[in-house]
Parts: sequence; structure tokens; C-alpha cells
Amino acid sequence: MSTTDQRVAVVTGAARGIGAATAVRLAAEGRAVAVIDLDEAACKDTVEKITAAGGRAIAVGADVSDEAQVEAAVARIAEELGAPTILVNNAGVLRDNLLFKMSVSDWDTVMNVHLRGSFLMTKAVQKHMVDAGFGRVVNLSSSSALGNRGQVNYSAAKAGLQGFTKTLAKELGKFGITANSVAPGFIATEMTKTTAERVGMGFEDFKAAAATQIPVQRVGEPEDIANAIAFFTGDAAGFVSGQVLYVAGGPLD
Ligand code: NAP
Repeated sequence: MSTTDQRVAVVTGAARGIGAATAVRLAAEGRAVAVIDLDEAACKDTVEKITAAGGRAIAVGADVSDEAQVEAAVARIAEELGAPTILVNNAGVLRDNLLFKMSVSDWDTVMNVHLRGSFLMTKAVQKHMVDAGFGRVVNLSSSSALGNRGQVNYSAAKAGLQGFTKTLAKELGKFGITANSVAPGFIATEMTKTTAERVGMGFEDFKAAAATQIPVQRVGEPEDIANAIAFFTGDAAGFVSGQVLYVAGGPLD
């Protein structure tokens, strides 16, 4: 495939976890991939995995909640890789606490990274998608969108992303752009490892306890989510838009 025919994908929060697995998976699908994370140096491993397998990727340091950094990052990606037409809004943080103990700053941080970040990234990338007459946006929601004790900020943001996704699908469909949301259940990453530490459990015990509550009797791996994202970002998924897919090893209440 010549570089001019190759679609360019942007994955945020792709230094590790679900974002890294998604970047690697999309590269395996033949995409050139911009690996965005807060710290450019932290993206090195993901980029090397892709280039070692013969793919094209660049590391881009940017805070997705900062408008100027997002604009600069997308301009650099268009210049170095080509116009981006696939966007995976994956960057995320947790600031869990019960409502009565949650600080305003922890509320704002979660809103800024998940909602403002996805808004800024999508706004910057959609120009290229509209010009190309093709686009795929995937927003990472969560099973927590259905409500989860200690996550009033995170569940509100993740439910918000579902509404954001549906509106994108309605506004942008006429330009050949789809928008969908993937909502993971428990996935083994640094994020869930930190939660285990917070509740005073070893990660292996925490995962084993979670697995007993999941119909397929195991926790998810980042690749389980990357597989769903690969479907939504594919050329063949052009008639699937505005959907929320829970990828959680079973149905959720
Ligand atoms: P993770 O291992 O914590 O990775 C998230 C990445 O996002 C980190 O590399 C982090 O960088 C980066 N990031 C944070 N804030 C950013 C910002 N402002 N700009 C750019 N990058 C930023 O998380 P994960 O488990 O892979 O989760 C990925 C996504 O899936 C998140 O949206 C999460 O909410 C969602 N999700 C995860 C699970 C799960 O069970 N793991 C379940 C449902 C949904 P730093 O390390 O520098 O902070």
C-alpha cells in the first residue's frame, strides 16, 4: 500500500493499556498511527512495536484537554503522517471518591480529560475527515456509565461520551463519518491496578474476584477492546453509527 492510500489513525492515551493495544492493532490493519500521550517519550514502546512489525507510527506528546496542544498535535500528524481520518478518544484518568469527599478539582480533572479532551480532539480531526469524505470516530465509554459507587465524576463523563457519540453520528454522517462508542467492563491495565492498590488488594486477587462476577469468568485484556475498535474503524463498518458496544464479558444490568 502506498503511503498516500494509507489511512491515518490517531489514538490518544496510547502509551500503555487499551490505547497501546489499539494503536498496535490498527497498525496491523494497515493504518499509519499517531500515538498520543501526555509524555512523548512514554509513547516510544508503542511506536517501536509498530515499526518493528513494518508499520508507520509517530509519538506525539499532548494533553488532550489543552486546546493549543491539541491543535499543534493534529497539525503535526497531518504534516508527518498524512490527514487523519480515524480517531480513537481513549485518554482517560480516574479520580474516584464518594460524592461527599470528592474535591471540585477531581471532578474537573475527569471532565476535562474525558469530555473536553474528546471534544477538542474530534473538533481538530473532523476537518480532515470532512475533506476526505470519510471518517471513523470511536469514543471510550465504560460500564461505569451505568452507575458505579465512588465514580460520580467518571460515570457522568462516560455517560456524557455516549451522548457526544450519538450527536457526532447525527451531525457528521452526511460526510461519510461514523461515530461509535466502546464501553469496556473490567480490563487489566494500570488503571485497574491502581484501583486495586486504592482498595488495598493485590492485583491478582482483585482480578480473580472480578472474574467471578463476569459471565465468561475472566477479566478483559486490552486486546479485547482493540478488537472491537478495529471493527468500528474499518471501511466495512460504514453503516454502523451512533452505537454503544459494551465489551464486558457478558451483558450488564
Ligand atoms: P491507563 O492504563 O491508565 O492509560 C490511560 C493513558 O491515558 C495513560 O497513558 C495516561 O497517561 C493517558 N492520559 C491521561 N490523561 C491524558 C491527557 N490529558 N492527555 C493525553 N493522555 C492522557 O488506562 P486504560 O485502562 O488503558 O483506559 C483507557 C480508556 O478506557 C480510558 O478512557 C478509560 O477510562 C477506559 N476504560 C478502561 C477500563 C478498564 O477497566 N481499564 C474500563 C472502562 C473504560 P499518564 O500515565 O501520563 O497519566
